[in-house]
Amino acid sequence: MNLHTPYPYWLLKSGFLFEYPALRHSLQVDFLVMGGGITGALTAWYLAKAGVSVAVVDRRHIGMGSTCASTALLQYEIDVPMHQLAKTAGEKNAARSYQLCIEAIDKLEEICETLPNPTGFERKPSIYCASRKADLEGLDLEFAMRKKHGIRVERWGKEDVARAFPHFQSPGALCSPHDGAQVDAYSLTHALLQDTLRLGAQVYDKTEITDIRHEKTQVVLGTNHGQSIRAKQLVIASGYESQNYLKEPFTRLHSTYVLVSEPIEGEVWWRDALIWETARPYLYLRTTPDHRVLVGGRDEPFYSPGKRDRLLAKKTLLLARDVEKRFPHLAPLPIDFNWAGTFAETADGLPFIGSVRERPRTSFALGFGGNGIVFSQIAGEIIRDMALGKTNPSAHIFSFNRAK
Ligand SMILES: Cc1cc2nc3c(=O)[nH]c(=O)nc-3n(C[C@H](O)[C@H](O)[C@H](O)COP(=O)(O)OP(=O)(O)OC[C@H]3O[C@@H](n4cnc5c(N)ncnc54)[C@H](O)[C@@H]3O)c2cc1C
Repeated sequence: MNLHTPYPYWLLKSGFLFEYPALRHSLQVDFLVMGGGITGALTAWYLAKAGVSVAVVDRRHIGMGSTCASTALLQYEIDVPMHQLAKTAGEKNAARSYQLCIEAIDKLEEICETLPNPTGFERKPSIYCASRKADLEGLDLEFAMRKKHGIRVERWGKEDVARAFPHFQSPGALCSPHDGAQVDAYSLTHALLQDTLRLGAQVYDKTEITDIRHEKTQVVLGTNHGQSIRAKQLVIASGYESQNYLKEPFTRLHSTYVLVSEPIEGEVWWRDALIWETARPYLYLRTTPDHRVLVGGRDEPFYSPGKRDRLLAKKTLLLARDVEKRFPHLAPLPIDFNWAGTFAETADGLPFIGSVRERPRTSFALGFGGNGIVFSQIAGEIIRDMALGKTNPSAHIFSFNRAK
């Protein structure tokens, strides 16, 4: 699959952070993690921390799948609002999903504090703006349900929005002052894998799994270099390409667009908050540690890399106009970088984590949707618990069975 245009900002900024060898010998491990993006890195890190023997393989260079293209806002707010998710998942599961995302950001912060390599983790407020007056009813339902379940959220009126963002046309918003964050997903992936190596794990890139055979006591995998890997358990953390290993389609693919401005002097906007909105598809904005504007959105509902990339120049200008309309002091926005990426979402906004009957000894860790990275943390813990023979009390919320 072609996941993104060649030059996402994070990749240009950091380049090759660390090198990993290709697998040129046969291998036997307890857990083989297929995919060295943020999901595979977190899963392997949790497994290695728990003392499990684990190896990671990736067909690309580490982090160069969707992870290096991510805008990496860390939000507890799932693409599907809690009051809507409650209709399909049940209120208890919907509330638990939101709570787990809040906890995931706290845990990611703790992890980032312990890692010796930089991760770009920064706490930020998260603002969810009503795009139109007609969205206020849904915003109020959402506010009420989040409050009911103990989430620290403020309901902003038009005047509150105008105080923070004088040129916004938004009639109201939900502000989460304490529970948002941002990260550099590409650097975090390398930082995690460096730590995972220190814990005794093995990491290989430029190594594609070309064949998977599920046996009674092991999974036997073949690679593009003609080697075989024997694992007691396989974790498929292959991002949007994981659909290749599933019988049923569980995701919808889109194209999305991102631009990064030149550095802006001083605070870019109110507390350099994370900003998104009720419109679908939505616009999502954050800043970078060197005070650039990073804005994503203008999605198209198709997967066609050629068509996607031909629209990049036009979409970049539209994204710049979107920023200038909301922040006239930034006009004309000095554009420095842009890219297009493929993006997968699920019908209920939740990830798929767990196993399917036709693939024994195998778990999937699929962090789809706008909260992909937060979901990757949740997947890491669920799979670690499974490896330790512990029942994770929230695993059923993300299982494949819920889709039936
Ligand atoms: C433009 C954009 C913006 C986004 N913004 C956000 C955001 O703001 N916040 C957020 O939380 N999420 C966001 N996401 C989503 C988030 O980036 C993804 O959920 C996350 O990066 C997925 O990580 P992953 O490790 O699951 O997949 P990937 O990073 O794609 O890693 C999977 C790896 O598996 C490897 N692989 C596949 N098949 C094989 C095989 N056969 N053998 C070996 N290796 C294989 C691939 O090479 C790849 O490197 C965004 C995504 C995009 C594209």
